[in-house]
Amino acid sequence: MSERKIAIIGGGIAGLSAGFFIKDRFGEQVDFTVFEKEKRLGGTIGITREDGFIIDWGPNGFLDREPLTLEFVDRIGLSDKLYPSDRKSERRFIYRNGKLWEINPKPQRFLGSGLLSLRGRLRLVGEMFIPPKKDDSSESIHDFASRRIGREAAEILIDPMVSGIFGGDSHELELGSCFPVMEEMEKNYGGLIRAMIKRKKEARARGKTSGGPAGPSGHLTSFKGGLYTMIEHLESLLKEQLEYPSEVKLIAREDDGYKIDFNQSQETFDEVIVSTPSYISSGLLSGVDQELSQLLSEIPYSSLAVVCQGYKLDKVDRPLDGFGFLIPHNQNMDVLGSIWTSVIFPEQAPDGYALFRTMMGGAKNEEIVKESKESLARIARKELAPILGLKGEPDYQKVIIWERAIPQYVIGHRKRLERINRRLKEIGNIHLAGNAFTGIGLNDTIKRSYNIVESIRID
Ligand SMILES: Cc1cc2nc3c(=O)[nH]c(=O)nc-3n(C[C@H](O)[C@H](O)[C@H](O)COP(=O)(O)OP(=O)(O)OC[C@H]3O[C@@H](n4cnc5c(N)ncnc54)[C@H](O)[C@@H]3O)c2cc1C
Repeated sequence: MSERKIAIIGGGIAGLSAGFFIKDRFGEQVDFTVFEKEKRLGGTIGITREDGFIIDWGPNGFLDREPLTLEFVDRIGLSDKLYPSDRKSERRFIYRNGKLWEINPKPQRFLGSGLLSLRGRLRLVGEMFIPPKKDDSSESIHDFASRRIGREAAEILIDPMVSGIFGGDSHELELGSCFPVMEEMEKNYGGLIRAMIKRKKEARARGKTSGGPAGPSGHLTSFKGGLYTMIEHLESLLKEQLEYPSEVKLIAREDDGYKIDFNQSQETFDEVIVSTPSYISSGLLSGVDQELSQLLSEIPYSSLAVVCQGYKLDKVDRPLDGFGFLIPHNQNMDVLGSIWTSVIFPEQAPDGYALFRTMMGGAKNEEIVKESKESLARIARKELAPILGLKGEPDYQKVIIWERAIPQYVIGHRKRLERINRRLKEIGNIHLAGNAFTGIGLNDTIKRSYNIVESIRID
């Protein structure tokens, strides 16, 4: 007999993983329903499988550095479908002044490469001697990076990394919310280089490898058949608890719980896990708490376009010897970066074809996603052609446009989160899942859902 009723709003990975964790932890003791407004599940995880290509619409993998994600994959019974990126995709590049430069992970090699000017390289090494910031004030990623490694390295190395991960503007995003590890490195070790040396020594003593300043290392990992395989699998596990297509219109507080309005029906639940994007959660919760609703509406999002193009290999002159490349904003291109999917996950393109996944838009170039799909594909082709030595037109293409794709943890995000948490505590039995709060990627999203379910008490 079920003792407690929980509603989960949103059938993206946040909602589906929360559903799985509830089922796994409470079994029959909890009666839960996942409401999803679309005809398909997965949210930003979507897929097209056609003509031998596998096209991930949004995320194309997760970093295998988070034990909880791997445990989750194991518990849902999908470990045998894990598909780690190919070893041939290890090299990464940055585009500057008309050519691709390798970011060599070995410091001596990197410093000898000429990606940065001599002055820029000396300034980078001088990071060792820059004193740590004294106060606890919030700082943008750009300000932190310029202060520590110099303006040139901030613009050439950090800025494209920020657009690659967040589709964001490094001048706007808050260091402590986006890269807490970097902030801690300065706080705990006095600087990034000092921290890396120390962490390397500690890791070596434990027989492991340490990561870069943005966090521990990891390999991009997907599933056989593409990332959507995970959604299809969760769908089969949670079949009986899924209600879709079913758009939730409002959540209202009642004496005995929360009333959910959906598809011209209403049902009352003891607890609600809201896993919709924060600008939607804001509307859904407007009748429950005005302040919470206002705080949620203030989290900005950036828009992105994903242009996937397949070419017969004899139309590509450049050897595809790595993961792909990122482009700093100061190179004045529309493309933010392009990854070589057919090298990273060879099964995602037919034999004899290269598949490129090119990102455009982001916080500094939002307007471009309003262009037609044809125009976006044309721009991608035009900008990639000289870099990759492309001859002729793509043999396959698919463009996906994501308006309000990725939440932006701008300066003040941490403070906003504290206020959101205070409101949630006061209201009680409303939980906010999803990637708008404590990490934008799949690992953090799954972890947040796990922590929410662990916090639920049914006795
Ligand atoms: C282009 C792109 C590339 C990315 N690449 C990566 C990557 O490579 N690696 C990585 O780790 N992360 C990546 N991410 C981030 C990753 O997609 C997110 O972390 C994750 O998918 C967020 O899941 P979610 O469930 O929180 O939100 P969503 O996926 O947005 O799901 C929310 C769900 O709520 C539903 N919904 C909305 N309103 C209602 C309503 N009123 N009633 C019911 N349902 C509703 C929506 O239809 C949707 O299904 C990428 C994101 C994008 C956009």
